[in-house]
Amino acid sequence: MKEPLSAATPIEFLGGIGPKRAEALAAELGVRTFGDLLYHLPFRYEDRTQFHTVDSLQASPVHVQLKGVIRSVKVTGVGRSERLSAEFHDETGRVSLVWFRGVKWIKRNLSEGLACVVWGKVSDFKGKLNMAHPELMSIQDADTMGGLHPVYSSTEKLGRLGLHSAGLGQAANRLLKKMQGQLGEDFLPEVLSEYVMRSRALPSLSEALLTVHSPASIDQEKRARDRLKFEELFFLQLLLLRRRLSQTEELEGVVFEKVGALFGAFYETCLPFELTGAQKRVIREIRADTRTGHHMNRLLQGDVGSGKTMVALMIALIAADNGFQTCLMAPTEILARQHFQGISEFLKNLPLRVELLTGSTTKAERTVLFEALALGEVHILIGTHAVLEPKVVFQSLGLVIIDEQHRFGVAQRAKLWAKATIAPHVLVMTATPIPRTLSMTLYGDLDVSVIDELPPGRQSIRTEQRTDAARISVFEFIETQISIGRQVYVVYPLIEESATLDHKDLMDGYESLVRRFPLPKFCISVVHGRMKAEDKAWEMDRFVRGETHIMVATTVIEVGVNVPNATVMVVESAERFGLSQLHQLRGRVGRGGEQSYCILMAGKEPSREARKRLDTMCRTNDGFEISEVDLELRGPGDLMGTQQSGALDLQVADLVEDRSILEDARSLAREVLSKDPELESAENTGLRKGLERLQKNRADFSGIS
Ligand code: ADP
Ligand code: MG
Repeated sequence: MKEPLSAATPIEFLGGIGPKRAEALAAELGVRTFGDLLYHLPFRYEDRTQFHTVDSLQASPVHVQLKGVIRSVKVTGVGRSERLSAEFHDETGRVSLVWFRGVKWIKRNLSEGLACVVWGKVSDFKGKLNMAHPELMSIQDADTMGGLHPVYSSTEKLGRLGLHSAGLGQAANRLLKKMQGQLGEDFLPEVLSEYVMRSRALPSLSEALLTVHSPASIDQEKRARDRLKFEELFFLQLLLLRRRLSQTEELEGVVFEKVGALFGAFYETCLPFELTGAQKRVIREIRADTRTGHHMNRLLQGDVGSGKTMVALMIALIAADNGFQTCLMAPTEILARQHFQGISEFLKNLPLRVELLTGSTTKAERTVLFEALALGEVHILIGTHAVLEPKVVFQSLGLVIIDEQHRFGVAQRAKLWAKATIAPHVLVMTATPIPRTLSMTLYGDLDVSVIDELPPGRQSIRTEQRTDAARISVFEFIETQISIGRQVYVVYPLIEESATLDHKDLMDGYESLVRRFPLPKFCISVVHGRMKAEDKAWEMDRFVRGETHIMVATTVIEVGVNVPNATVMVVESAERFGLSQLHQLRGRVGRGGEQSYCILMAGKEPSREARKRLDTMCRTNDGFEISEVDLELRGPGDLMGTQQSGALDLQVADLVEDRSILEDARSLAREVLSKDPELESAENTGLRKGLERLQKNRADFSGIS
């Protein structure tokens, strides 16, 4: 009995493929089944409406298309020098076609008298024109292509097996025809529900796939591809929104019942400024979440200097008011230390114990600390990833705050969870604005709060580009700022691959600054990766206390460091930094009431992309706008780092280009779930099944915590 064809049929069983090609397809492209091949979509199309004639040919790197007949086919040479040649005739003349690879396979499809269309580059070989490795198509196939010719990604290995772009296209078309012939018009079961199809006037899945593999026009192709994109994004959003529903419904969370005495006392007597409207709103949002008995998993986005720490601190006070401990995790020791100092200072008049745990905490200190933690005597623990160690045991951990989350992996976050019987509420803070498209995809299962307002009185930072030629005037500027009591950062790039050279640059730069700004009038701190943590901390402290005027550093100061008196950020070799890094660095100044400056020192001829980054920095201070440009330049995977890019592995859609489809898919997914949260209705059965499949395939992609 013959198996019925389906998307799950192994690709081996497609005529012309067989076991050997099937193995190569799986290894090279991950194509294992009929369905996989159908979803291996062309990545562009060539317009082949134009035909050339043989008498008009000349050597050129541009592909041309000819229509004619094959005459005389012959194979010469053996082994490596084996080659296949054929004479190709049209009404105007003849040209020879040659192949050096895949001879056997091509010869099988080549016969004298064959009428065909060839497509390739014409070159001059010893005074005679020829076409090497042209693509060959029957006149019939060429007609059905309607002029738009799909181009598929392939590999050298597949090419040797006859599965270069054209071979893949022919296989896909054979398969489509075959399935259509045996299973009818709708040869693939529709995965979207009727309601979804109707409300967005989408073509059926079968029709869409047929079209993208052999479109009649650009418009038709776009409509078909948009349907496939919509489908992909719709299911992804269903998955994320469903997960969020089930998390908030099913996962038990500790209850912060009341806002009590500690919060009240802090608000009344310790808070040195009025909270911004955005800070108040976010505190209310979190407050509402943490009292429900459901688990909170919330991302707090706010541009540099927007006051996220204060929000975190006030939530920690609510936790303490309800008898729960808080753990605040920072990505670097410097930052952890700074949070510790800042928060201890804010809380100095309250009966709360705040402790610090980092890699430099001694064994003796740890013993004392661990005991106090386990007894619940420590209310707020601040630290680096050292807090993840199994020995760190809390009495009642109720809140985990993660600063600058993109530096923590999923597995590390999971370790924190294990430290309490009921999962502690999680607040992830990031100053790296994430474009909306990305946060909807990556954090679709996360609640997001945004602080979109800076504390009053901040002046926007002035940013300018300079080259080495202007160094003298840059130094003069630095001197005037120091003379009116301000402090200055000078930051050097440090990239692992060029660490030694980069280190030398920094030390050279440091020395020339020391010469230009000599003691005793000037004092310079230096912080770099080859220093011991305690030395770094000492240098940093001197700068924070205002004892040094200039801080020379690598990007260790990138995140979080807060010295409001610093007003100048000089970034050396700025063309080597990414946009979000530059934005972070700039965020180190402009934190007090004074006008601040960011000076981007760049080489004379930065690359086109580097230029765009530098120009963007000079044009705007808006982190969200910058993040959109960053996404455009780098693409989503790169932007978020490999850790999270699993979630961004989209087959058809593109988060940069398809933003509006994503928004639409998300709103429809939300609508569908609001009417039928469990997707139980008969109409939604297909959606539920599609979702289950996706869940299985994406088991490794486990959200944020
Ligand atoms: P970030 O969001 O970058 O972490 P911080 O929490 O470090 O920002 O806050 C930046 C600075 O602004 C700190 O010195 C902080 O004390 C101050 N700050 C926070 N909120 C306010 C406010 N509402 N009014 C004035 N200053 C504030
Ligand atoms: Mg911060």
